[in-house]
Amino acid sequence: MRAHPAGPRHGDMVSALGAPAAPVDAVSLHELSPVVWPINVARGSGDNLTQRSLEVAGLDVRDIADEFGTPLYVLDEGDFRSRAAAFRRAYDDSDIPGKVYYAGKAFLSATTLHWLADEGLNLDVCTGGELALALRAGFPTDRISFHGNNKGHDEIETAVAAGVGSFVIDSYEEIARVAAAATRHGTVVDVLVRVTVGVEAHTHEFIATAHEDQKFGLSLSNGAAAEAIRRIVKLPSLNLVGLHSHIGSQIFDEAGFEVSAHRLVGLAAAVRDEHGFEVAELNLGGGMGIAYQSDDDPMTADQMATLLRGIITRECAGYGLSLPRIAVEPGRAIVGPSMFTLYRVGTVKEIDLGNGHARRYVSVDGGMSDNIRTALYDAEYTVRLASRVSNADAVLSRVVGRHCESGDIVVRDCWLPGDVSAGDLLAVAATGAYCRAMASNYNYVPRPAVVGVRDGKANLVLRGETIEDLLAFDPAL
Ligand SMILES: *Cc1c(COP(=O)(O)O)cnc(C)c1O
Repeated sequence: MRAHPAGPRHGDMVSALGAPAAPVDAVSLHELSPVVWPINVARGSGDNLTQRSLEVAGLDVRDIADEFGTPLYVLDEGDFRSRAAAFRRAYDDSDIPGKVYYAGKAFLSATTLHWLADEGLNLDVCTGGELALALRAGFPTDRISFHGNNKGHDEIETAVAAGVGSFVIDSYEEIARVAAAATRHGTVVDVLVRVTVGVEAHTHEFIATAHEDQKFGLSLSNGAAAEAIRRIVKLPSLNLVGLHSHIGSQIFDEAGFEVSAHRLVGLAAAVRDEHGFEVAELNLGGGMGIAYQSDDDPMTADQMATLLRGIITRECAGYGLSLPRIAVEPGRAIVGPSMFTLYRVGTVKEIDLGNGHARRYVSVDGGMSDNIRTALYDAEYTVRLASRVSNADAVLSRVVGRHCESGDIVVRDCWLPGDVSAGDLLAVAATGAYCRAMASNYNYVPRPAVVGVRDGKANLVLRGETIEDLLAFDPAL
């Protein structure tokens, strides 16, 4: 545990802080690992170091920053589409047809919804706001699934009236609410039951007997899931199509999915034995990890699909069940690596840590309002000098924001060229998921714009807020 979010200040604590090893040479400070950066990001060519700025699909980030300002989220359309397409192919082009739902909470906009619709994906929403955006953007309604542990009456009403494809049921109350809405509209609604399977997975660790002490889902072990199914099958306005489980996020290890699939198939067999029918779909949720650093090694969509098919085929054979449709809900794995954040450096301070160690605090024009993940989850990001390359020696640096809080850190420990100074642009990789989506207006800082880049052209995906936008909420002004 860290004693203070800014970290211990003594030089002999540098290694204890987990600072990454110093880079071997200045060149490695400018490397763009393909597992971390979007596929269309590269360095410009030229003998002059200032010509070697970052480019996205042929556009110089300096020009993008001049046109749209900073901080700015930059989204590589080609990268986003290729990840979405890879997921669809991995689950479509096989003997066992599957379904891929994009988890909207990771990042949502009308533009990206159009791309997802083009690429043949389905969509998860979990609030009336996400649903309203999807409906307004014209996302095919029958491809939307409605999640959430406390869907309101109005939200359910809107979703049923719009004809969303399915509801993932998360409570007894919701069974009655959805059934009533379906009856009012003279329709039958497809539902899945969200099952708490007692598995919790994060990155390389998982716990198979995780305490079910959490707000999501209906417990397998205390019989709540089985009871929910009993109530659903009695209601003619509800049609049980499947079982659902979501075990965590940023997962690299298949073991958690294996245990969760095992338990879901066990419940599917119990449903057949008690009610005499087999569920059509098993949804294993999202959580597939991505690379934030060059040595992270996540599974590809294909590897993951092959693995899940193997597990479910084996488990179903064990119970004599026919194979259900396999569904997954990647959010981060599609949008996370497709976007990076562009910041402009404002100030640089050298802090003496003692024992001959120093740390450079590099302040940028954004921070915890556009990326809360470092403060919230200890997330570790890759950062690069983006407006040029430099031959200066690497110095241990910390990229911090502009907010009135010492925990306002974007990248806790990194090595940057020693001559990084005011006016330089920095790019922080893999900020597509849960950064803009979780952005706030802390300190009355407007949320940055998102621009999509393709074939040398940049287009607004979300306009940036202005201070006038923020003042407009105050009726006393
Ligand atoms: C958050 C969430 C997802 C997406 O998780 P990622 O880690 O972004 O893939 C999918 N399904 C459910 C139910 C979720 O809550």
